[in-house]
Amino acid sequence: MKTDREAPSGSNIDKCLVLIARAIREHRLSHAYLVVGPPGSGKKEFMEKCAGLLLCNAPDLSSHTPGACMSCNSCHKFQKRVHPDVLDLAPQGRYIKIGQVREMQKILSFAPLESKRRVCTITDANRLNADASNALLKTLEEPPEGTYLLLAATSTSRLLPTIVSRCQIISIRKRQDRKNFDEKMTGAGLPMDAMPFLGYVSDGNPEIAVQLADAGLMDIRNIIMQFLTSEYREVLFFTASHAISHPRENIDMAIKVLYSIIRDLILIMSHKDNVSSLLANQDRAEELVKLAQETNYDSLFSYRRLMEQVELYLERNVNPEMTAEMLLTYWLQHHTVTE
Ligand SMILES: [Zn+2]
Repeated sequence: MKTDREAPSGSNIDKCLVLIARAIREHRLSHAYLVVGPPGSGKKEFMEKCAGLLLCNAPDLSSHTPGACMSCNSCHKFQKRVHPDVLDLAPQGRYIKIGQVREMQKILSFAPLESKRRVCTITDANRLNADASNALLKTLEEPPEGTYLLLAATSTSRLLPTIVSRCQIISIRKRQDRKNFDEKMTGAGLPMDAMPFLGYVSDGNPEIAVQLADAGLMDIRNIIMQFLTSEYREVLFFTASHAISHPRENIDMAIKVLYSIIRDLILIMSHKDNVSSLLANQDRAEELVKLAQETNYDSLFSYRRLMEQVELYLERNVNPEMTAEMLLTYWLQHHTVTE
């Protein structure tokens, strides 16, 4: 374990730790924190320091250099990775599965053993599959006494919005990132109103955003949106399935687009007003609000499950056109456009 208090250059880890220390001091600690930041930003280091601080029996909660004492019993055990009140959920295979979440919940039904608090870390929350996410919601809604969850993810894009909304978000990143992204996008001639969407699908990485746009991402989104909002989905079905799976790379982009749409639809359903600034597809908000009226949370949730299945098929080299048809067929069976 790293014990120095220096954050990676330009990162805001120490500032975030100050916020946590203040929350402890003022007795308004949140039961779940979602630590978001690009790879290499220092999320893991922050999680370690934060967990140490929460578990320590004599932490320094000052506003300048908060941290664990490193000498109490709890700190010793944490450093040796034998602390009984630390649980970590890591992917088994591709995903973190529902069985793992249930196992964790079973442990959480007992009181902490060593410290006042117990810490559950999920260092790759993007890998929670749909069922595991749903099970975890229960813990986030009614966290057991003394239990604190620290989730980390490179972005919130693949997480269920219902998970995100139940966590306090801590952004670990360099201040310049957003401005830098917008400048690079306009430099590449990409439309300003698509900036939130491009930021979302690329996790804020301008190089990836430009690559995706060059490969036809915006066209793929147009095709999918046209299909989803059409009264005549049956008529568009084969042209759309073909277009989003030829060439092969298109299907990967289609999946990114669909993740963004499902996320937006769930957000629209769970927020009544002023939701459009939260959407990835802000520039298509009007159409999505309409689309949200003909679907529901359960249906979108099973669609997420289907998408995970499709991703697995693609890894096993199932014909991309067939997977595209699976993704679109769903919308023929589960939804009818009402006028
Ligand atoms: Zn300590």
